[in-house]
Amino acid sequence: MKDDAKDLLSQAEDRPALVKTRTRRGVSPRILLCLVLCAVLALLPRLVHQRLFSSRLLLLPDSLVQGTCPQVGAIFPAGPNGELWGKLSALYAQVDYEERAVAWLSDAVRIPTELYDDMGLVGEDERWEAFRPFNEYLVEAFPRIHSTVKLTKVNTYGLLYEWLGTDADLKPLLLMAHSDVVPVDPATADQWAHPPYSGHFDGERIWGRGSSDDKNGLIAAMAVIETLLEHDFQPRRTIIMSFGFDEEGGGPYSQGAQALANLLLDRYGKDAFAMIIDEGSGYVEQFGTVFAIPAIGEKGYANVHVEVKTPGGHSSIPPAHTSIGILSSLLVHLESNQENAHLIRTEPLYQYLQCVAEHAPDVSRDLRTALVKGRHSDRALREAEKIVFQDAETKALAGTTQAVDVIYGGVKSNALPEQAAAIVNHRIATDSSLGAMRARYIHLLAPLAAAFNLSYTAFGTSILGPTTETLGELIVTNPDGLEPAPTVPTDPGAKPFALLSGTIRATYAKRREALGGAREVLVAPGIISGNTDTVYYWDLSAHIFRYNHNDLGTGGLGNIHTVNESMGVESFMEEILFFTTLILNADDAELL
Ligand SMILES: [Zn+2]
Repeated sequence: MKDDAKDLLSQAEDRPALVKTRTRRGVSPRILLCLVLCAVLALLPRLVHQRLFSSRLLLLPDSLVQGTCPQVGAIFPAGPNGELWGKLSALYAQVDYEERAVAWLSDAVRIPTELYDDMGLVGEDERWEAFRPFNEYLVEAFPRIHSTVKLTKVNTYGLLYEWLGTDADLKPLLLMAHSDVVPVDPATADQWAHPPYSGHFDGERIWGRGSSDDKNGLIAAMAVIETLLEHDFQPRRTIIMSFGFDEEGGGPYSQGAQALANLLLDRYGKDAFAMIIDEGSGYVEQFGTVFAIPAIGEKGYANVHVEVKTPGGHSSIPPAHTSIGILSSLLVHLESNQENAHLIRTEPLYQYLQCVAEHAPDVSRDLRTALVKGRHSDRALREAEKIVFQDAETKALAGTTQAVDVIYGGVKSNALPEQAAAIVNHRIATDSSLGAMRARYIHLLAPLAAAFNLSYTAFGTSILGPTTETLGELIVTNPDGLEPAPTVPTDPGAKPFALLSGTIRATYAKRREALGGAREVLVAPGIISGNTDTVYYWDLSAHIFRYNHNDLGTGGLGNIHTVNESMGVESFMEEILFFTTLILNADDAELL
């Protein structure tokens, strides 16, 4: 651990080029978070059962509950696209097509495309060769795409498909996915209900690594394009599919998504895309209502290195505080002065909660009252915070967090430590910034640096210069970091969010026409605490949604990155209908 930490520090400081790439992507935050989903998904159901559930409905005057979470009606493709949509919806309901779709995904899962954190460069590290058979499989499985659609291989394994529309004035639609998967831990292989690369289909679920993260997204998009080609569909709006191969980490910088994004920027320019859809959240029942929760934001992150340098010497004649003792005081001070988390009216988490207050029947009276009043009253909003932040995960999602994750210092028991350092990991709130995080370090640590007679350099700027009294140095740096993602507009005038919402509602209703059951899904914006490959795509569109149209309750996302990853066939078929509906709706120039 100590060596790793030093390596991270020295690599970053010795190699400015690497630091630059890391401003968009760090190593550690990516490991766990391909889909660390919107905390609301994990925690609000718990809140429902533990603390907030109330069978008493608070009936509020309409004037109070209207308008904070407006719902777009279902949007069904119209005209010739509508006819095709009807035909394809019927096709997808047939057993033959379902078998075909299952085979597409099962076969994709059977080709392991594991990604390791210590992967070297493509072309040098042989482990990348595992991706070759996967890409060859796509050529074989989707012949129409490969005979019709322009394919560019980016950095060997990145795949960029461009299906050119007839109207070059329409901004393209961009679908993203990734072909890599997290490795299966050999120690857990016997815990799988079906072998992790079997792609076994038991009649209800497709089993195996990648089945729900993210080969489902990749294969569903490919299946839809192949099927549309089979039905002689010619898009007016250009459709792009961009498939990376190292979303799950894979090294100190991105060789897949970043290269793809750069090429797209070269070919199409800034803000060239009408909307971008990547993996992310899905739909799930919350407080008695099914909500689809497209993520419209991502938190940022940063690793901050706090380093104290003091003179060495024999430990028989020690000063009152060694560098280790001083560092400890600094870290205690940081932990004693946590940044307050708040619900902010312009932020996605607040928007989500307002949707819950407005549309979900099973919210407790106290929470609903606080949220409704909180639309205008700061005091009421603080009340809502108190209730919602009882859950540590929601609180963490709302605010900038800090975790002292690494510490090292000292080399010998009889030698004074000349250096002690720690790495503090932060996840930056969507309403905050790296600048605010840095300002906090300057503000909090300057008095302590003065008290310990240290000079203080923070983020390259001298805060306290050396004097004749100075006993040592405090150096705080931030070698890598990522700002929170720009929040996607969801106001009534934002066509992409409206189109996505209407498409989700149409898909959900259509699928349940045959299945039976309630056909109503509401759409509420959300955020994810981790980052997807979209971090490289910010310049390409202001409308980036992290959303798989999957049932988070039973669809399969519960087991991503662990044993028994699987994908419910119903959810997968609905994902196919979703992409179909989206493409046909987006083809209407009026709607997007
Ligand atoms: Zn993923």
